[in-house]
Amino acid sequence: MTTVTLTATATCTAGAAEVVSGTPEKPGLPQPVNRRMLAERAGFLTTLVQQLASWLLASVWTDQHLDQLASGVDAEGRRLPSKGWMALRRLGWIPLIPAGLRVPDRVLRAAGEETARALRLALHRRAVTTAIVASWPADPRRRTTDDWVLLRRHLPAGTDNATIRNRTRQIASFAARHGRLPDGFTELETPPTIPAQVLLAAADRQLVRVERLDGNRARVWVQLPTVPAPASYRDWAWHDIIVPLPPTVAPTAKLCTPTLRPRDGKVRLDLPFDTTVEAAPLAGHTRAIGADWGYNTLLTAVVAEPGPDGTVVCSGRALRFDAAGVSRKLDRLRAHRETLKTKITHLERLAAGRHSGLDPASTAKLDLLREEHQRVCARIRNLGRALAWSGARWLIDQAHAAGATVVYLEDLTCMEAPGSSKAWNRRLSNATRGVLADAVRHLGMREQVAVVTVPARGTSSGCPRCGNRLRHVQAPDNHKPANPWALCACGHSADRDFSAAQRIAARGLAGQHRTTRNRAGQASVRQTVDVPVQRAKTPTPRPAMRPAASRDKQRPTPSRPRRPARRTQGFSPAALATAGSRPAPTRAVQRPAGRTPQNPTVQVPGTTRSHTFSSNHTRTRHRVRWAVLGRGFHHHVNSTPLLQRAGPHGGETPGTHRIAQEN
Ligand SMILES: [Zn+2]
Repeated sequence: MTTVTLTATATCTAGAAEVVSGTPEKPGLPQPVNRRMLAERAGFLTTLVQQLASWLLASVWTDQHLDQLASGVDAEGRRLPSKGWMALRRLGWIPLIPAGLRVPDRVLRAAGEETARALRLALHRRAVTTAIVASWPADPRRRTTDDWVLLRRHLPAGTDNATIRNRTRQIASFAARHGRLPDGFTELETPPTIPAQVLLAAADRQLVRVERLDGNRARVWVQLPTVPAPASYRDWAWHDIIVPLPPTVAPTAKLCTPTLRPRDGKVRLDLPFDTTVEAAPLAGHTRAIGADWGYNTLLTAVVAEPGPDGTVVCSGRALRFDAAGVSRKLDRLRAHRETLKTKITHLERLAAGRHSGLDPASTAKLDLLREEHQRVCARIRNLGRALAWSGARWLIDQAHAAGATVVYLEDLTCMEAPGSSKAWNRRLSNATRGVLADAVRHLGMREQVAVVTVPARGTSSGCPRCGNRLRHVQAPDNHKPANPWALCACGHSADRDFSAAQRIAARGLAGQHRTTRNRAGQASVRQTVDVPVQRAKTPTPRPAMRPAASRDKQRPTPSRPRRPARRTQGFSPAALATAGSRPAPTRAVQRPAGRTPQNPTVQVPGTTRSHTFSSNHTRTRHRVRWAVLGRGFHHHVNSTPLLQRAGPHGGETPGTHRIAQEN
């Protein structure tokens, strides 16, 4: 068993703080510093670093400088160090300290690191831009097949379609304004804004120190300026800050140097911490989960096992994570963002066209629109991230519940489907899908579930049973060409995503002996091996009334004739107890809308985390829709609940979930 170091970041808020004269080794008399003053002083340091870094970035923002950094060697041909600030120093790019200021060298390092990160990100954007300019099509709105081939030859590996589209639009708008293509990247883009933060990791013990006080507190020593423009070293002082740690930071985790981020009158610290975990094995899995980024739902998964004669046996039950409500909310927010952007562009054009600028009312309106635009962007980002983490948590929980030791996913970087991007984007943006994949990997690593990507090509177009090309139709009884349903001549008929999930699981299990890890530790199966998928025998006997003709679904299930619903006034255990005259129901009955008094609690043994679920829907034959009790969008998520299964990992072994029913 190999061990790996897992790094995560906890966002903390600074608690009580003291300022000391002298050093942490020989502290003088401590004086308490209130929260406002601490935030103010952290703000001085942040502004200082931001100014130094912005100045340095502007002075090297030319294509010649970027070429020099991209070459990876200095003037004498030696390789540049991997640390950003060191590489810039080797090239002779050092922040200039304004006259009259006294700034420790470690602060200059932090500023250099900010600049280096901005420049390295710019190098990637520049490579994409250069490739698009070099293969500029006759009609930028519609590339021909030859155009795509030419473009892919120039592009860096792993560039997604959204990036290509956005960069193409940016260059097209430059061409429309200037009547020519840009000469270089720096002509197309101005230097990016340096974020308001201090990367203390670039400094050393002379500026910052971190130690753990106890299980839930850390102590951070950092030198902060006591005035906005420190003129001597007397204007710098050591601050001793107590940082409460969130429960996600295990007592055994090793704390690293934080990033300082003063905001809204508080001092935030992004504190990375390392945990050593045992890596899940890559091969030898006997039960797996295959998951597809859905067309019909966000995630559709299936439980699979290796079968006889090299086949794979899949469960007939689809596990679904659907957040249609959140997706629609994201759609509405994106539309709102576009409207705001249009209004802002309009006012900016008006301002540029007038010598006297805008009148005060329009200026105020423009400021308001910009602020609202930023807020909407942040909301989209946060909601997408929350959705991604929630989906990842659900997937890993399903793996535990099913006793699966591996989760197979499609490889995002080889997903290229020109033309079909609209349908994808409606459900999940590329960024959100990337966060989800990373989150699944992180949680899997922490909880000993291997997360492996398989090639994406042909997962939804090929039949999982026979491998022939599938026909995509509207529904099993409506053969109009559309996306939701998949049909095959061999008799396979299934939901499109469920069909794809089966193929992904089969591809993973069949190729598990060829699973490799890349340098970043991400596991993948590179070679496509498709094996026939069999459907598992249903363990429960079918009711005698049901015609046992065909097990395959050829048409929608006809709805049962319903009795007229009886109205119930309220629904609570107390109300049921008092309604003594009514006989107790002997079979499943339809529950009135609203919350149920039953709250099954799902607990992961060995952790303190627990989810409370509240069943919020009627129990259907194979599928129960649940809504997670709580605030926010969880109300809008429909997902397959965790069910206890008898299996190799069933029962109460570590790493599985137990469902406790409280009545
Ligand atoms: Zn088939």
